[in-house]
Amino acid sequence: MVIKSRGKNNKVEKLEALISRLNPGHPQWEWIKEELHKRQSGERGERSLDYHLTFLPQDEFFILHDLRLKNEQGYFFQIDTLLLSSRFFTIIDVKNYGGSLFLDHHFNQLIQQSSNGNKRGLLDPISQIRRQQLQFKNWMKSNGMEDIPVESLIILSNSSTIIETTSNPSYYDKITRSINIDNKIEQFKLKYPKEIFTKEELWPFAKALVTAHTPSDYDPLKYFKITHADLLKGVCCPSCSILPMIRLHGNWQCSVCMYNCKDAHIRALQDYKLLISDTITVREMCSFLGMSSRYSAYRLIRTMSLCHSGGTKGREYFL
Ligand SMILES: [Zn+2]
Repeated sequence: MVIKSRGKNNKVEKLEALISRLNPGHPQWEWIKEELHKRQSGERGERSLDYHLTFLPQDEFFILHDLRLKNEQGYFFQIDTLLLSSRFFTIIDVKNYGGSLFLDHHFNQLIQQSSNGNKRGLLDPISQIRRQQLQFKNWMKSNGMEDIPVESLIILSNSSTIIETTSNPSYYDKITRSINIDNKIEQFKLKYPKEIFTKEELWPFAKALVTAHTPSDYDPLKYFKITHADLLKGVCCPSCSILPMIRLHGNWQCSVCMYNCKDAHIRALQDYKLLISDTITVREMCSFLGMSSRYSAYRLIRTMSLCHSGGTKGREYFL
């Protein structure tokens, strides 16, 4: 049973908003585009795992996706998927790598070779998941739940990926394909036949995990050193994606494809919320949407029935 779903990946949403508001000639554009592709691919991999998890006996597992927990040192660690059962827990890390992979346990490195022959080094997923496992066990200890074994698995979600490794048996046990997940879990069930908690005893711990989850405060502007002045202002045309549309007789009109609509500003304000702030003043809205009349910006914001704080001067609206 899924008790915490994945939801839309906030980092992907933020990067999509950022790339749509940057000039392709911007020095950071290629880097941001690459980061966005990487995260979109990761998100696809995680979602493809969800289908394979439906083959597990649903009444035996609490499934939690996309958990971000704080360790004792105050740093956050992230778990793609966590399976809780009465006999053992399993941490799952999803990797959507393409091409050919070579896992080298001597140097703890993963070498990826793409179809054009280019090689690049990546973090060794075994070391990564060991670290996650350790942090999770510590988290369990500090939350009164240390008696249950914790297994970990790395799932390769891209079925066309070729993988080779040095002859280290622990690597074979830790890495598998999405389609084999139910088989791996069956092996864990044989390894841990004894029930340690009842499902009723497990439930408060599952709830505590959901409560302890802290969404990421990822700020792509800070990360990529982008200033507000770098962002393209205006309302984007939903039909041809050109910026900016023109405000005409209470409508938004595209001067390129002539598309006309009433609510194109909603998407622009979503971008503002993802990239800048979740509150906005009429003056800030005028500037971001590229409106010349403060009065029409005020009328527009009134139509959205947003909650607000402060008096009439400098009033902040909650997006
Ligand atoms: Zn257009």
